Amino acid sequence: MRSILKNFIVFFAAFLIIAGFLSAFSSPFNSVEDASFGSVVESIKKGDVQSVVVEGDVLSVTYADATEKKSHKESGESLASLLGIYGVGVDDIAKVSIESKEPGGVILWIATLAPFLIPLLLIGFFIWFMMRQVQGANNRAMTFGQSTAREHRGDTPKHGKKTTFADVAGSTEAKQELEEVVEFLRQPQKFAKLGARIPRGVLLVGPPGTGKTLLAKAVSGEAGVPFFHMSGSEFVEMFVGVGASRVRDLFQKAKKSSPAIVFIDEMDAVGRKRGSGLGGSHDEREQTLNQILVEMDGFDTGTNVIVMAATNRPDVLDPALLRPGRFDRRVTIDLPDIKEREAILKLHAIGKPLVKDADLRAVAQRTPGFSGADLYNLLNEAAILTARKNRTELSQDDVLVSIEKVLLGPERRSHVLSEKEKKITAYHEAGHAVVSHVLPEADPVHKVSVISRGRAGGYTLKLPLEDKRFHSRSEFIADLSVLLAGHAIEEKIFGDVTTGASSDLRKATQLARAMVTEYGMSKKLGTRTFGDKEELIFLGKEFGEQRDYGETFAQLIDEEISRLLHEAYERAQKTITENMERIERVVDTLLKEETIERDAFDRLMA
Ligand code: ADP
Ligand code: MG
Ligand code: ZN
Repeated sequence: MRSILKNFIVFFAAFLIIAGFLSAFSSPFNSVEDASFGSVVESIKKGDVQSVVVEGDVLSVTYADATEKKSHKESGESLASLLGIYGVGVDDIAKVSIESKEPGGVILWIATLAPFLIPLLLIGFFIWFMMRQVQGANNRAMTFGQSTAREHRGDTPKHGKKTTFADVAGSTEAKQELEEVVEFLRQPQKFAKLGARIPRGVLLVGPPGTGKTLLAKAVSGEAGVPFFHMSGSEFVEMFVGVGASRVRDLFQKAKKSSPAIVFIDEMDAVGRKRGSGLGGSHDEREQTLNQILVEMDGFDTGTNVIVMAATNRPDVLDPALLRPGRFDRRVTIDLPDIKEREAILKLHAIGKPLVKDADLRAVAQRTPGFSGADLYNLLNEAAILTARKNRTELSQDDVLVSIEKVLLGPERRSHVLSEKEKKITAYHEAGHAVVSHVLPEADPVHKVSVISRGRAGGYTLKLPLEDKRFHSRSEFIADLSVLLAGHAIEEKIFGDVTTGASSDLRKATQLARAMVTEYGMSKKLGTRTFGDKEELIFLGKEFGEQRDYGETFAQLIDEEISRLLHEAYERAQKTITENMERIERVVDTLLKEETIERDAFDRLMA
C-alpha cells in the first residue's frame, strides 16, 4: 500500500516537471499577440506591415511601428497567392518583405509531438515502475531462504541497556548452570587448552512465561557476544526447503561473528519427533530439523557458537536432538516458588511507585502457579488500575484486586443477575466455600463472591497455604467433593440443578480420570498408567490416546471414575447437611455484600 502511494507521488512529480518544461518552452508563443488573417490583410493594404515571416502556416508579422503579431494562414496556399485572392495589390505585396522559413525548429516539433508523447511517456514510466516493483518482489522471493534472525548484542534491547542475570529474579540453579556457558563464551581458550569439549547446545525447558527467552538474552548480555534470535515457527514457511536454507544461513551468520549464541525459541515447532506427523508440513519440518542437526554436528573444535533453544514441551522433542553433542545440557526452569515470586515482584516493581507499606510477600502468597510473565502482567494491571483511579501510588489493594482480574478475567458488574439467579449463585458458591473450609485436606478459602467474572457466575478463590509440588490422593478426593458441592447444594435447596455447575462437573471428571489412569490412585486398577498419549501434530494438542489396555480395563476405568465421583458427591452432600447453618450465614452475607474476604469468612465459620 505504501509503495503504491510512493509510486503515485513520484509519478505525479514527473508529470509536473514535464508539464512545467513544456509550458516554459511554449511561453514565447503566448507572449506575442494573435491577429486574424483578415486584419493582417487590411494592414498590408494600408502599408502598415513591414515584414512577414512565414513558417509553415504561421505568420510572424512585424508592423511599421515595430510591434509583432502572430497570425495563421490557410494551409496549402502560399502567402502571396492568398494575398492576391484577398485582393491585395501587387505593389502592396512588394512593399512587404516576405520571408519563408522551413516549418520546424525544436519548439514546433515538441509542440506538435507533445500531445502524443506525454501520454506515451507516462505509460512508459508506469510500466517501468511496475517492472521495478515486480523485480523487488522477486528479489524478496530470492532472499526467502536467508534467515530473518534478529541479531542483538545483548546491549541493544528495548530499554537500551544490557540484559543480564540481574534482570532475572529467582531461577538460581538455572543461572548457575548457565554461568558456565557464559564463562566459556568469554574465554574459550581456557577450556580448549584443557581439551574440554565445549557445550554445543543448551535446552531451556520450562512452562510458558518462566523467563526462558529472558535467560538466553541474559547469557548473551553477560558474555557480551552477539545473539541470533529466531523462533522455531519462523523456519517453516509456505515453500518447501526454506526452513533448511534458513537454518544454514543462520548458522553461517553466527559462525562469522563467533563467539556467538544462536537462540532458537519455541524449539518444539521444528523439533518434534520425526515421522509422527499427519499434516502436510511435517516433511518440511523434518528437513529443517535435519539441517539443525547437521549444522550442530558440523561445528569443529574452533567454532565458538553455542546453540540455545527453549521449549515448554521437552516430551515431544525428537530424541536425536537430545543426544550428547547436541542439546546435551538441559536447564529446567520451574514456575517460581513463593520466595522467587516475591523477588520477581520486587524486580518489576522498580519504576512503579508503590506505597511504603505494600507487602509483596502477601502478594506472592496469593499467587501460586503464577509465572514470571503473569506477575509482570499483574503489576501492570495494577498500575493501569491506579492510573484509572487518578491516584499516584499503587496500593496493596490495587495489586490484590488485580490478581483476581488476571486469574478470572474482569468483573462483569453490568451482568445483572435476577434475584433468583443471585440466590442460586450464592448457595452454589457457599457450598464450594464451606465444603472447602470443612474438609481438612482441601485448601483454605481466600474469597467468595457472587460478582460474575469472565465466564464464571460467581467464584470461590481458594489457595493452598504453601506451594505444592506434589498432590496426594486425599487432597484430590477432597478437591472432588469441593468441585461437586455446588451441584449438590443446588439439588438440595432447589430440588433442581442449573447449567452453572457444568464446568465443575467437567473438571471433576477430568481429575477423577487422571487419578485413575495417570497417577495410579485407584486400588482396584493398581499401580499402572493407562493410555499412551499421542499427539496430532497439526492440532498441537493431545489427541485421543493410544489404548494400551483391553476392553475389560476400559470398563473398569469407567467404573472407577464413576465410583470416585459418586463417593465424592455423597461426601459433599453429607458435609453440606452437617453445616447448613454455616452455609445459610454465608448466603445471607453474600446476598447483602456480594463478596466475603478471608477474615470475614473465617469469622462466619467460627
Ligand atoms: P518464556 O520465554 O519462558 O515464555 P519470557 O522470557 O518471554 O518467557 O518471559 C516473559 C516476561 O516475563 C519477561 O520479559 C519478564 O518480564 C518476565 N519474567 C519471566 N520470568 C522472570 C524472572 N525470573 N525474573 C524477572 N522477570 C521475569
Ligand atoms: Mg519465550
Ligand atoms: Zn461451581
